[in-house]
Amino acid sequence: MDNKDRKKNISVAVDGPSGSGKSTLSRAAAKELSLVYVDTGAIYRTTALHILRQGADPRDAAAAAALLPEVGITLSYDAAGMQRMCLNGEDVTELIRTQEVSMVASAVSAYPVVRAFLLEMQRELARRHSVIMDGRDIGTVVLPGADVKIFLTAGSEIRARRRWLELRERGTPRDWEQLLQETRERDEKDANRAESPLRPAADSVLLDTSELDFSQSLERIIEIIRERTGS
Ligand code: C5P
Repeated sequence: MDNKDRKKNISVAVDGPSGSGKSTLSRAAAKELSLVYVDTGAIYRTTALHILRQGADPRDAAAAAALLPEVGITLSYDAAGMQRMCLNGEDVTELIRTQEVSMVASAVSAYPVVRAFLLEMQRELARRHSVIMDGRDIGTVVLPGADVKIFLTAGSEIRARRRWLELRERGTPRDWEQLLQETRERDEKDANRAESPLRPAADSVLLDTSELDFSQSLERIIEIIRERTGS
């Protein structure tokens, strides 16, 4: 790297649909490379939880917007490096993982006012730390100047199956057919919304994890990051 290009913090953007393995892989890569892992989906989910709790209709953009000033989000990391989410002082890390919150997060994240509200928080994290940040629009909108951009994909059935297993392990099993349908609905919504649709940045590296197991995917991600940052 030339001196003029040397930056204090490294930023890695990982985007992709739900169930592509973004969060588990990003968390593991962060640990291996001593980066701060930022799960931006959790930030959208925390906002969605507040909207849900207030009984607002998630299809009503104005109602969602009116609640934003009440949303106070803080991120912290526990000893195991897990990101904890606080909503107005309450730890909601586990509460935001329900399918209900997933669907509301997907709906309200389509509103420009919600995205604008959360944009600066995400950028500030990247200014302060060397990060690996995962989401839907990190490489395209949040950190367009990221040092490394990775776009993770996998077939929708494979991703729904991963989510099905995850929910079963967590003790909140779901009906397979319904989960598959919801995965496709969320894909459709995330990819076709007018504001920050899910799409690979032109300069991202595409990685399809359909045929890869966890350690193969992780190895490949670490390789991509090392190649691009010279670390
Ligand atoms: O990644 P996760 O499934 O936790 O994200 C929940 C929802 O939040 C997604 O379905 C997506 O609609 C939204 N999201 C987003 N932009 C991000 C991260 C998540 O729109 N950067």
